[in-house]
Amino acid sequence: MTPRRTAAPPEFPTSSVVARPAARTTNEDVRQQNLAAVLQLVHGAGATSRSEIGASTGLNRSTVTGLVQELLDLQLVCETAVKPTGRVGRPSLGVAAEDRVVALSVTADPLAVSVALVGLGGAVHSRVRHDLARPPSPRRFAQVAASLVAGMRADIDRHYRLIGAGVAVPGLVDHGGTVVLSPSLGWRREHMAHRLTDALGMEVTVGNDASVGAMAETRFGIGRGIDNVLYLSGSMNGIGGGLVLDGALLRGTSGFAGEFGHTVVNTSGALCSCGRRGCLQVEVHPAKVLALLGRRGLDEDELDIELGLVRDPVILAEVARQVDVLSVALTNFVNAFAPEMVVLSGYLGVLLATSRERLSAAVRIHPVGAEGRTVRLERAHMRSHLMQIAPAELAFEPLLNDPVARAPRF
Ligand SMILES: [Zn+2]
Repeated sequence: MTPRRTAAPPEFPTSSVVARPAARTTNEDVRQQNLAAVLQLVHGAGATSRSEIGASTGLNRSTVTGLVQELLDLQLVCETAVKPTGRVGRPSLGVAAEDRVVALSVTADPLAVSVALVGLGGAVHSRVRHDLARPPSPRRFAQVAASLVAGMRADIDRHYRLIGAGVAVPGLVDHGGTVVLSPSLGWRREHMAHRLTDALGMEVTVGNDASVGAMAETRFGIGRGIDNVLYLSGSMNGIGGGLVLDGALLRGTSGFAGEFGHTVVNTSGALCSCGRRGCLQVEVHPAKVLALLGRRGLDEDELDIELGLVRDPVILAEVARQVDVLSVALTNFVNAFAPEMVVLSGYLGVLLATSRERLSAAVRIHPVGAEGRTVRLERAHMRSHLMQIAPAELAFEPLLNDPVARAPRF
């Protein structure tokens, strides 16, 4: 979304990370776009002064004042104290996203269903989780999610305005919310958006977990304000990713873009769930390292500490092998997409923390024509907190793109 002045050529600020719509022409359309731009800004940035909004969007003072007033009238933002940017001065009155406007954030893991109540602006109000003994069928997943939501209903009805739910699934998800394939859940061609809309009694948007992770990391995390970000996340389920190009999440024709885990890096490697051999996600996987360490689960914090202390040459060699494979893949991705930043999450964040020099040296050396070009390699900021809030972004998206039409009423 791009803020526009009503009487000037369109401007494209660098801080926007949301898809830009086709050009609109009327003054009313321009105003709607500017409202969306201001709401998106305070949603991602937190409490913001009017002058900071003006500086970020390029809009003049009176336009900002009018837009903020309209968002206040819609009860999508609220007034709040903003710390002065310098060392002196008193807090001024700014605006923040209204966190009583909420969405449900639902995650489908093979062994748990989690539901978080997330406010506009990314605050988690409450969270519930139901552990499972085995991966749930789609029907069972919908039942568990519905019972968790039912337990939160009274609180929601009393204190909040709910706009819908976003659901993150590890697997291929098309534009219509059909899970085409999720090997870790054992789902194939499941119309989850329809099923969950019926089960939860609200609008439900379903997306790939890594894609929604990329969206959240560029709105709230280390990638905030950066227009070209490659996000890769590693877990026991494999490697997923999302690519934000010129501020918009790349979705591809069917919504499947970002399957970086199935990039073939070793044609004689191990068999992948996709049927090919040597995909990145089988060559770079935590299972072998965890087995060598005698651990079962993947806990990022514990793995950070353990790999920092380990001296066993077999384990060090396996980590180095995986880092080298990852660096080859990253070099290819960097050459293909020229991101400003690569964000590594989950197990890949652990590999970056243990081998930052080795990984960044390889990625820095190899890109074609890399002179003068810098690619920042960063670990995801948000860690486990990310997946609590990320799916809610799917539900907030229509509101952020068209605040007037989508504002929930009290
Ligand atoms: Zn594969």
